[in-house]
Amino acid sequence: MPRIAVINRDSCHPKRCSFECYRYCPRVRTGDETVVMEERTNRPIISEDLCTGCGICSHKCPFHAISIINLPRELDGRCVHRFGPNGFALYELPIPRTGRVIGLVGQNGVGKTTALEILAGRLKPNLGLATVATSKQLNEFFKGSELQAHFKEVERVKMVYKPQAVDALSKVVKGKVYNLLSEADERGVVRELIPALELGDILNRDVRLLSGGELQRLVIAAASVREADIYYFDEPSSHLDVYQRLNAARTIRDLAGDGKAVIVVEHDLAMLDYMCDYVHVIYGQPRAYGVVSSPRGVRVGINVYLDGYLKEENVRFRREPIKFEVRPPKSRVSGREFFSYPKLKKSFKDFQLEVSPGGFYTGDVVGVVGPNAIGKTTFVRMLAGEIKPTAGKLESKLTVSHKPQYLKSEFDGTVEAWLHSVIGEFDPAFEPEILQPLEVTPLFERNLGELSGGELQRVAIATCLGYPADLYLLDEPSAYLDVEQRLQMARVIRRVIEKREAAALVVDHDVLSIDFVSDRLLVFTGEPSRKGKTHGPHEMRDGMNLFLRDVGVTFRRDPQTGRPRANKLGSAVDREQRGRGEFFYL
Ligand code: SF4
Ligand code: SF4
Repeated sequence: MPRIAVINRDSCHPKRCSFECYRYCPRVRTGDETVVMEERTNRPIISEDLCTGCGICSHKCPFHAISIINLPRELDGRCVHRFGPNGFALYELPIPRTGRVIGLVGQNGVGKTTALEILAGRLKPNLGLATVATSKQLNEFFKGSELQAHFKEVERVKMVYKPQAVDALSKVVKGKVYNLLSEADERGVVRELIPALELGDILNRDVRLLSGGELQRLVIAAASVREADIYYFDEPSSHLDVYQRLNAARTIRDLAGDGKAVIVVEHDLAMLDYMCDYVHVIYGQPRAYGVVSSPRGVRVGINVYLDGYLKEENVRFRREPIKFEVRPPKSRVSGREFFSYPKLKKSFKDFQLEVSPGGFYTGDVVGVVGPNAIGKTTFVRMLAGEIKPTAGKLESKLTVSHKPQYLKSEFDGTVEAWLHSVIGEFDPAFEPEILQPLEVTPLFERNLGELSGGELQRVAIATCLGYPADLYLLDEPSAYLDVEQRLQMARVIRRVIEKREAAALVVDHDVLSIDFVSDRLLVFTGEPSRKGKTHGPHEMRDGMNLFLRDVGVTFRRDPQTGRPRANKLGSAVDREQRGRGEFFYL
């Protein structure tokens, strides 16, 4: 059985430990060199040839930096890339197919982006060896697979890559939206894409002034107007509302319709389902290793991922399957109403918001749905007393803790220092109830500035919940989180709100996350950037129907897992559900 020893370099702190990995290794004690300390860095290197896999070092390391992993025999010799000795290892690769959209689904940190970068020629694979693999080695490694031809042609094949983090692009790309798109328009499709991705209103805007959602749509359009054989999209849904996600999914699908090969990494399962033909499940242990499974049809592939068991490979990669309820949750609101607000209005020069009367109960988690730029943040700022309504009066103001949609990491210091700087001394329950389930504790020693999008998101949620408040506003907490982390995030929010007898408003565009976390729904409708109106908070069924009728999409349920699947507009199921007025729950 192949075995790998992986040392997470971010968690290994040789200055703060007693070299337990070296001192307790039974092989070292008998005098061999299973663990040696590298002279330059004073960090350990574990010899995978000598290691017996006893796991003592992994248990003894005070920072849990070591993983000793026994892999299935079939993976022997199938490592496509390794980030140095004892580094992250990726096994196998997804296969691009002409005229098809291929999806990659899996936890964060198991190598989805690495797989894309290797296929796109941005990262040269080393096949687990010390040097970059030669063409001959790659040819031999992928012999008999479609990837053999891919790597033969990799220098000649034209590829376009949409990166995961679009927020940073506004700092490096300059110019007006229309100029950028028309200059990149090699396929002559810019006129079709402008309405399809709702870019009409921002064509004359400078890229530096765009919001995250606008940037995301611009970058998807900029990738799609280019002429290429293979298109890669890394998380195209982030910062987009439900309507925009479906439009982006259609744009990506159309590329395959034009005979292009497309590969997409995406955590929004409804969107993945809507646009892909096949799915590769990537499983493994985050930051240690990842294995790309063989492709499956999109429905089966997503179900296998939720089930946590790959039958053909005989691999169980999660103990429990993820299941969905097809009926709305029974009202979990049982607390007292602790805050109510009357009819309110807020007018700005170009934007009007109308708020219908409502209130919050203790332990109430209210999902907030609606398009971007429709007044959600304005509403919360009024509740917090930061801005005054133009009409209507709020009798009291709430203490609000706010996690913004866009995350900044300008703080110069560690995650632990950041948390203390905002929250002060930690409450005894903070660590077991918030930090541990959100997996923030292992990030304590890392600098805030070097965290990935998903890590920064978890820290931001913990920061928001760690602060004592009456009302918690979490704006798009699911962005950059994988499906399991979204479930965990929903559990943590619910537990904290119930225990503190507070209330939470959770703004999200992922219908699965909204379904997991909410007791009730506050629906915003209107015209983005012009006028907005609130409806509710409503019971989940009424809220979802109101919201999805406005978006114009119905969801059926997968019979095996209960997960929501977006119906094709005008299909028999879509028409039947519209007729019954049931857009989401059955
Ligand atoms: Fe210390 Fe753990 Fe690093 Fe070994 S792996 S040097 S025990 S922190
Ligand atoms: Fe030594 Fe056991 Fe760790 Fe291998 S797993 S390095 S043999 S302590």
